[in-house]
Amino acid sequence: MTFDTLPAEHYRLFLWVRRGVPLTLMAGFLLVGFLMPHGPHGFGWWALAAMAMAGVAWPTFKRGEAYLLARRAIIRWDGMWVWLLRPLAKAIGLEDAWILSFCGWNNHRVREAFENRKARRSLILLPHCIQLAKCKAPILDDLEKCYDCGLCPVGDYMHGILEKGWESRITNRSYKAYRETREYRPDLIVAVSCTDRLLKGLTKLSEVPAYVIPLTLPHGMCVDTQFSVPHLFAAMQTLAEPKLGPRPVEGQDSMSAA
Ligand code: SF4
Repeated sequence: MTFDTLPAEHYRLFLWVRRGVPLTLMAGFLLVGFLMPHGPHGFGWWALAAMAMAGVAWPTFKRGEAYLLARRAIIRWDGMWVWLLRPLAKAIGLEDAWILSFCGWNNHRVREAFENRKARRSLILLPHCIQLAKCKAPILDDLEKCYDCGLCPVGDYMHGILEKGWESRITNRSYKAYRETREYRPDLIVAVSCTDRLLKGLTKLSEVPAYVIPLTLPHGMCVDTQFSVPHLFAAMQTLAEPKLGPRPVEGQDSMSAA
């Protein structure tokens, strides 16, 4: 089975705000300092404010190993920008675009970090709502109980997982996904979810680099959701080392098929 290459990431909106705002303020503070060197605050204070803004923008320039080492703090900062500006984005009808832009920026940096060094211990996380709502196949207990009827993405996903031997979990609660991830201790997560859960997951599991793929919701939240199986497998092939070993034992409400 072969998969497509990864699609381009779209992150300009987030980057323009996250990097552009502090750099613009930095330039503004320096300009004011030069124009009013003998003002009430003197040049020194303006220069100090400019340096503070440079410090705010600095994490956006980290790449590769430096990015991975500082990821927890970087995600905390980036996440703060997302949460702070989310109400404004919502007010102008760009809430999803804003969160997805942050996800795209995250993906871009994770791709850079794993360009020359693939992850050795990767984990796929999927939400249970990808299963057709009326389907009774107990895939939470065992993915191979899927009848492969073709009515939802689970069948295609199962075939790829069985062929490639990747570790994965399908869960019906976010906290279970977090718990299972912490127990497994991966060095890379590839996660599929709705935009809101992706944002929460990225900030809650900031210690683990994560490549995220948004669900499409043709029937609304949490019902018969869709995602691109080739996109998911392209991410695994690009970022993670192949894993073709014996299958691990399944968890109670999770699936492992390695
Ligand atoms: S592919 Fe068919 S059998 Fe498998 S989970 Fe989806 S609906 Fe159920």
